[in-house]
Amino acid sequence: MNVMSPETTSRQDRQTESAMPVVITIDGPAGTGKSTVAHHLASRLGLEFLDTGAMYRAAALIAIEKNIDPNDGPALAVALRDAQLHFDWSADPPRIMLDERDVTARIRQFDVSGVVSLVAARPEVRRVMVDQQRDIARRHPRLVTEGRDQGSVVFPDAPVRFFLHADVSVRARRRVAQLVKAGQTDVDEQRVIRDIQQRDELDATRTDGPLIRPEGAVDIDTSARSVEEVVTVMEDIAREQLPDAGFEP
Ligand code: C5P
Repeated sequence: MNVMSPETTSRQDRQTESAMPVVITIDGPAGTGKSTVAHHLASRLGLEFLDTGAMYRAAALIAIEKNIDPNDGPALAVALRDAQLHFDWSADPPRIMLDERDVTARIRQFDVSGVVSLVAARPEVRRVMVDQQRDIARRHPRLVTEGRDQGSVVFPDAPVRFFLHADVSVRARRRVAQLVKAGQTDVDEQRVIRDIQQRDELDATRTDGPLIRPEGAVDIDTSARSVEEVVTVMEDIAREQLPDAGFEP
């Protein structure tokens, strides 16, 4: 016999609704503010946040530390499978861990930025990463994920997908501010511009998972907008497009 009161039923319905998987993707080139806005958007909607750039950066760090040629895809894939690469989800935003070592700050340094796009261009590396990202989404099904290929390759069926872009000078200034905030001293803006342009070029021209605007993604130019403005635009769109997703009020 069903003894549930109507109220219990509706609360249960709401719980089922709120447990529904929701993946929101944010792609775009370096310095468009993806990580910051993705993290804020996730907090506002009550979702978790995945920084896939951190995963490729950790792969680049493995290449550096194990002396692996950043163009040697098969060797990188083996090293990646052997490594214990995972996120500490108890932190907000999650910290990236390599063999129980917190490498969140280390992977932002110039030596890593200098080789990450070479490592990320190897199809063998991308295959491992794409599998891991889909696996993360199975374990964390309510997710805002950001990167270069999230809406195009990894989660092409995500119900809300964004593509961010901004002028290169604005992007470089943001990256400098981010590095200084992270404790790096003597940050050279010209070097940051060169780094960004080089990565843009490599990321956009690789054959596997290139940086593209995913078909049907919402395009947002963040050059003249604050983080708050960009997040609000995205939040409004997500709430409008997914009224039954059970987001935080
Ligand atoms: O986002 P972030 O700038 O930290 O990413 C570092 C690098 O990782 C990018 O320049 C790109 O080469 C690579 N990347 C990628 N695919 C993703 C995320 C990042 O190829 N989904």
